[in-house]
Amino acid sequence: MAYAGYLAASACAMVIAAVLGGFHRHYRRGYLRHWSASWWAFSLVLMTAAPALRLSRLEPAPPATQLALAAVALTAAFWQAVWLLLGAYEVATGREVAKRRARRLWAGMGALVLGALAVSTLLPPGQRVLCLVGLAGLSTALAFGGAALGVLRSGPRPPGFGRLLLGASFLLYAAEQGHNSTILGVAAAAGRSFSYPLLLVPLDALLVALMGIGIVGWLLEEERSRAFDASAQTARLAYHDTVTELANRDLFYENMRISLGRAAAGSGVGVFLIDLDRFKSINESLGHRRGDELLKLVAERLRCSLRPGDTVGRLGSDEFSVLLPDVGNERELERLAEKALEGLRQPFNLDGREIVVSASLGISRAPADGSDAEELLRKAGVALEEAKKQGRDACQIYRAARDAQALDRMALENDLRRALGNDELLLYYQPVLEALTGRIEGVEALLRWQHPVRGLLLPADFLWLAEASGLSHKLDLWALRRACRQGRAWHDQGADWLRVAVNLSARSFQRPDLVDRVKETLWESGLVSSSLELEITETLAMRNAVESMGTLLGLKELGLRLAIDDFGTGYSSLSYLRSFPIDTLKIDASFVRSLPARSSAEIAAAMIALAHSLGIRVVAEGVEQEAQWRMLRDLGCDEMQGYLFSLAMPAGDCGRLVLGGRRSLLPERAGDDDLVRSAG
Ligand code: C2E
Ligand code: CA
Ligand code: CA
Repeated sequence: MAYAGYLAASACAMVIAAVLGGFHRHYRRGYLRHWSASWWAFSLVLMTAAPALRLSRLEPAPPATQLALAAVALTAAFWQAVWLLLGAYEVATGREVAKRRARRLWAGMGALVLGALAVSTLLPPGQRVLCLVGLAGLSTALAFGGAALGVLRSGPRPPGFGRLLLGASFLLYAAEQGHNSTILGVAAAAGRSFSYPLLLVPLDALLVALMGIGIVGWLLEEERSRAFDASAQTARLAYHDTVTELANRDLFYENMRISLGRAAAGSGVGVFLIDLDRFKSINESLGHRRGDELLKLVAERLRCSLRPGDTVGRLGSDEFSVLLPDVGNERELERLAEKALEGLRQPFNLDGREIVVSASLGISRAPADGSDAEELLRKAGVALEEAKKQGRDACQIYRAARDAQALDRMALENDLRRALGNDELLLYYQPVLEALTGRIEGVEALLRWQHPVRGLLLPADFLWLAEASGLSHKLDLWALRRACRQGRAWHDQGADWLRVAVNLSARSFQRPDLVDRVKETLWESGLVSSSLELEITETLAMRNAVESMGTLLGLKELGLRLAIDDFGTGYSSLSYLRSFPIDTLKIDASFVRSLPARSSAEIAAAMIALAHSLGIRVVAEGVEQEAQWRMLRDLGCDEMQGYLFSLAMPAGDCGRLVLGGRRSLLPERAGDDDLVRSAG
């Protein structure tokens, strides 16, 4: 009966061994392989230990088979213990046992088995069987006890039902085997035998079966939690920025939608958009790996300086966003923004190097600035641009009026890009007269834009925008080409004395290819280079005197003329006139306007005298009154330009003036009033 119970337990262990082997082939976990081997050994122990004790009476001399069975049971029990412990180690630590260590374990166990067998030969045969089987039980008890600890303490999560069942059945089995081996020890030492352990045999079979159920349950639980982890990981990857682990754009928008939907009446939601100042250059000088490191630190700072419920996200390379639910008024938001910026101002430590960064921050609020995520972020962006314009390292709250300007500016910028292709640009020409005779010497080309909706625009309406958006060089080249062609046409029609002046912007003047472009244009249009005058503002020429000198000399070599424009508004330093290769000085209209006051007249006289001493001609701009003209003429000014004589006008009108004989445009010549009017 008891023997049948052991056989049943042994069969059960075999089934478990096979199942574990099958699981191993499917899941490829090392501990399953070890345990499968351990359970095969276990079934061998169960199969041999019982008959070794039961085959016949123990006294006086048990048959050799009985001794052999006991020896097999002991050996199998040791194998089982080693495999069980190897598996348990893997389960508990998540690592495989190092090969060398495993080999040492096997060797140690092998020595123990041989030692036990050798020692047992010293005992009388009856005790020998008891001793061998008892040792087998002891090793099993110790191994299961250790495995129970490994199983129960493994994994980051608290044990589930399967793991608990397995751990508990291991422990119980260890206790049972401990008890069995104690009884055998007592039997061997005292010669007493106990019959009640036979009653425990069904418990053995039950425990082995429970172990099987526990393992399967645990595997299922593990599989489920792995699937759960994997999907959580996928979600993290999909909704978080990989560098900083902050919310990515999608998650940030989603959180915004939730916060906006939930915002209680009376409480508002704030949005920050934060851009690191000059991050690009930091990134380039540090290298991208350190740049990423810095972004991580920045993210951490932001998280720390805000409130626990605020969401921090990363929207672009160095653009961060913050969602602040439940904020009171504007002042509260500004206080939080200032705190965030202050946090970022503290130096960062990157590989022992101190790095200082600053950021600009734009703020928008719901419901005041809008109620959907897209709109709030856009408006925070407008405020951010404003903060950058104010010199960075600052925060700005969104203001509708500024936004309107920004939108208007954006629309105009788009229009301007199209204007070049759509033939909406025009050149007007304003005559430049000889001061004494009033005869036309040249014309200045002035840009106009015939906007399809806004009408005719003056340079003041759009040049700043061209300058800011990098379009001014294109506009200048266009004006240069158009003016040269027009000049050539007028020359061909007989006005070959005519000089054409063209303005250059700061950007154009700083372009390294300027000289080549001008040369090309001259060649293409066929205009004599000495008939072209390029006007450069005084401040511009002075900004980088050494480089300017190179460009000016290059232009001079082409044979054209150079004028300093708006003289008297910038440095007004006369000294550089000596070193620069300049042909013409244009006294600015604002200066002319202050005439004929005496102090101004004295300065004008000095300017003109100096220019003349250097062989430079002087042109007065913006002459509107006869008194100004007379005074300038008397001071020796060479040429004049202004509404007193003629407005700037389209090429056709100017052509009639230029080609209609070199008549004087001076106002005092009776009858010429008509001309002035027709010019307007
Ligand atoms: P600027 O070079 O000083 O050109 C003279 C400006 O004074 C012109 O204004 C002209 O119309 C205006 N003006 C002429 N006579 C009088 C007068 O008696 N009284 C007053 N109050 N103003 C007078 P405009 O055409 O509006 O051009 C403004 C500025 O735009 C120009 O100033 C020049 O700096 C710039 N600009 C014009 N065309 C171009 C161009 O093709 N390229 C570049 N880069 N700048 C240009
Ligand atoms: Ca000019
Ligand atoms: Ca000027």
